[in-house]
Amino acid sequence: MSNPLLQDFDLPPYAAIRPEHVEPAVEQILSENRAAITQLLTQPASQMTWDSLVVALDEIGERLSKAWSPVRHLNSVCNSAELRTAYEACLPKLSAYWTELGQNRTLFDAYQALAQSPEAIGFDTAQQTILKNTVRDFRLSGIDLPEEGQQRFGAISARLSELGSTFSNQVLDATQAWTRHITDESQLMGLPDSAKAQMAQAAKGKDLAGWLITLEFPSYYAVMTYADDRALRQELYTAYSTRASDQGPNAGQFDNTPVMLEILDLRQELAQLLGYANYAELSLATKMAESVEQVTHFLQDLAQRSKGFAERDLAELRAFATEQGVTDLKSWDVGYFSEKLRQSRYDLNQEELRAWFPIDKVLSGLFAIVQRLYGIEIRELHDFESWHPDVRLFEILEQGTSLGRFFFDLYARPHKRGGAWMDGARDKRRTAHGHVQSPVANLVCNFTPAVGDQPALLTHDEVTTLFHEFGHGLHHLLTYIEHAGASGINGVAWDAVELPSQFMENWCWEPEGLALISGHYQSGEPLPAEKLERMLAAKNFQSGLMMVRQLEFSLFDFELHATHGDGRSILEVLEKVRDEVSVMRPPAENRFPNSFSHIFAGGYAAGYYSYKWAEVLSADAFSRFEEEGVLNPETGRSFREAILAQGGSQEPMVLFVQFRGREPSIDALLRHLGLTAEAA
Ligand SMILES: [Zn+2]
Repeated sequence: MSNPLLQDFDLPPYAAIRPEHVEPAVEQILSENRAAITQLLTQPASQMTWDSLVVALDEIGERLSKAWSPVRHLNSVCNSAELRTAYEACLPKLSAYWTELGQNRTLFDAYQALAQSPEAIGFDTAQQTILKNTVRDFRLSGIDLPEEGQQRFGAISARLSELGSTFSNQVLDATQAWTRHITDESQLMGLPDSAKAQMAQAAKGKDLAGWLITLEFPSYYAVMTYADDRALRQELYTAYSTRASDQGPNAGQFDNTPVMLEILDLRQELAQLLGYANYAELSLATKMAESVEQVTHFLQDLAQRSKGFAERDLAELRAFATEQGVTDLKSWDVGYFSEKLRQSRYDLNQEELRAWFPIDKVLSGLFAIVQRLYGIEIRELHDFESWHPDVRLFEILEQGTSLGRFFFDLYARPHKRGGAWMDGARDKRRTAHGHVQSPVANLVCNFTPAVGDQPALLTHDEVTTLFHEFGHGLHHLLTYIEHAGASGINGVAWDAVELPSQFMENWCWEPEGLALISGHYQSGEPLPAEKLERMLAAKNFQSGLMMVRQLEFSLFDFELHATHGDGRSILEVLEKVRDEVSVMRPPAENRFPNSFSHIFAGGYAAGYYSYKWAEVLSADAFSRFEEEGVLNPETGRSFREAILAQGGSQEPMVLFVQFRGREPSIDALLRHLGLTAEAA
C-alpha cells in the first residue's frame, strides 16, 4: 500500500489520508530530511550561495510541510481518536527535529557565511530580511547555549508542543461532553426558528426527539442572545464558561488548570534560558512592538480612554434590564438584554437581518469587492478532493493567470474545533527548479449551517468574521514575494499580522460594501435603506463594553506572561486586571482562561494585544480609503502593493508608512468605534 502523504501531489489527497499513514510518513520524511541537510552541509561554507543553502533548505522544509500541513488541518476539522493519537505521536518527533535544526552550528555558520559573502551585497530586501530573521531565530532556538542548556531547550519545546495539544483537546472534549436535551418547546421561548431548527437537527443526529442544545458556538450564542428562560441561560453560561476546568457541570473532568500552570512555568524557564527576564520579553523579540512597557502602556491608555464609555454602556443596560424586571443583571443576562436594548433603540433584530445575508450572496459580494479593489478574479473549482461535502474550493486569477487557490470550510459541526482561522496550506515560492509554486489557503469558520432546503443565512457578525479570515487569506495568496521565508504571512511580525484581516472587516460596515454583500434570500432584494441606516446607527452600540472586554483579555495575557513566578495564581492576575479595566464581574466560578486557546494552544501567548495593536494600523490604513473612496481601485492597488504583496519582506512599520505616507495614529480607530469626546 502506498502512503498518500508520501506521494507527490498538487492539492493534498484529503479523502485518502488515514491515521495510520501519519506516523510512518512523518518518520520517513524526517529521516530523509536529516540526511539531505547533512549532505547539503558538506559543501564548504565559503561556497554557500542563496540557492545552494536557502532554496535547498526550503525544498527540504516543503517536503515536510506538504505532508504535515494536511494532517494538522484534518486534526482540527475532522478530529477523531485515531487521528489525534497519530498526530500527537508526531509532535515530539517534529519538535526534536526543529530544535536540532535551530541548534545546528554548521548550519548557523553557513548562514553567517552567506550573509557575509559577496553575493549578499546584491540580495534584495526580502532576502536580507530573511537572513537577518534566520540568524535571530537561531539565537531564539538556543544556538549560543552550552550543550546542557540546548538539551533543556529541546526538552521544554517538546513538552510545550505536547501541552498545547492537550489543552486544545480538552477544550474540544469539554465542548462535546455537555449537551442539554429539551423536550418541552416552551423552554425555548424567544429563540428564533432557525436556531430551533438547528437544535432539532442536532437532536435528530443523536436519535432524540425534541431539541438538543450544544456548546458549539451557534447554539451557545442563540441561547445567550434570545432565550427568555433565564435559568436556561444561566445553565448554558455556566457550562460554557467552566469548560475544561475545576468548576461547572463537568468539573474536574477535562481540567486544563495543571496544563496551564506547566505551560507558564516552562515558558518562563525558556525565556530565562535565552536571557530574557520573562516570556513577554521573549515574545516581543520577534514582534513590531518594542518593549513590555510600550505594550502595557498602549493597552492601559486604550483602557483609560474607553472605560468611561463602557461604564455608560453598562449603566444603560442595567437601567433597561430593570425596566424589564431584572434588577440584578448577571453575566448570562448581558447578551440577552443587549440584544433587546438594541432592538428597542434601533428597531434592529440581528436574527431578522440573516435573511439578507445568504451565503452565496455574501460570497459573491465579497469577491466583487476584492475584484474591484485588487484587480483580481475569483472562480469556483469543482473537481477536487475534500474532507467534508460542505467544503468548497476557489481560484484567484489575474488576467487569466492563476495566483492561488483557497478552500472554504464554513460551518460548525461536531469534531471540528471552534473559532475561525486561516491556515496557509502551501506557500508561494520559487522552487529549486526555477518555477513558481502558487499558494493555497484553508479558510475555516464555524457558521450556522443551512437547515433543510434553506441556504445558510449568516448573521452580520458571521459576515464580518468571513471578511476577517478572507483578509488573512489575501495576505497569504496575493504575495509577490517568491522566497518562502517572507512570502504571504511568513515572517510577518505577529502583531502586524491582523492588519489585513481587520482591515477587510471595514467593508461590512460601508453602504457600498453592504450593497454588494446583501440580498434577501427569497426575493433577492437589497437590504432596505431604512434597515441599512439603522444598522449603521447601531454600529457602535456598546463599543465601550466590547473594548474593555478585549483589553481585559489582552492585559491578562500580557501580564500573565510578564509576571509569572511572582507568586500570584492565574486567577489572581485576572482579578487584578479586572480591577483595572473591567466594569462588570463574571461569577466566581467563571474559568474563561481554561478555554483561552489563543494563548495556551495558539500562537498568541503574550501576543493577544496584537489584535488591538493591528487594529490601530488597520483603522488608519482604511482611513485612506475613506478619504479616496472605499471602492477606489487605485487605493486598493496601492494597499495591495505596499502591504498585501510584501509579506514579511520588510519591517511592518516601513510597509505601513509606504502605504499611508506617515506613521500610524490611533485617531481613526477611536473615531470608528465612537470612542471620542464628540461621541461622549
Ligand atoms: Zn485574525
